[in-house]
Amino acid sequence: MSLSAADRELLDRAVGVARAHSRWRHHTVAAAARSVDGRTFTGLNVFHFAGGPCAELVVIGAAAAEGAYDLETVVAADASGVVVPCGRCRQVLSDLVPGVRVLVSETEEVPLGALLPSPYRWSEHLSSLERRRR
Ligand SMILES: [Zn+2]
Repeated sequence: MSLSAADRELLDRAVGVARAHSRWRHHTVAAAARSVDGRTFTGLNVFHFAGGPCAELVVIGAAAAEGAYDLETVVAADASGVVVPCGRCRQVLSDLVPGVRVLVSETEEVPLGALLPSPYRWSEHLSSLERRRR
């Protein structure tokens, strides 16, 4: 299997940002995302002992800051290559961009559902609470 040219370009952008701008230990992972309208965005993680966002969360915010809420594909990478999303990012992606595809290696992309097959649905939990309040 191999990535499409567009996915390869997205991965190259993430690796390029990581190589150009990673700084131990606060910024070590970059992410790149492509919106359904074809725009691309990048972000870097913000590590802090108090808890900082992973690169995937930063790129979701960077895209939103440009009015792009519908992301088609996302990839995280360090200077060596692809980094698969952590559990927290899988959950956030599931809640905010459930249809997103994730690049998980230099040759493979998967739907988010393959990484988080039975997700907790925050919106469903809130709906359940709302029904109980009535
Ligand atoms: Zn993460």
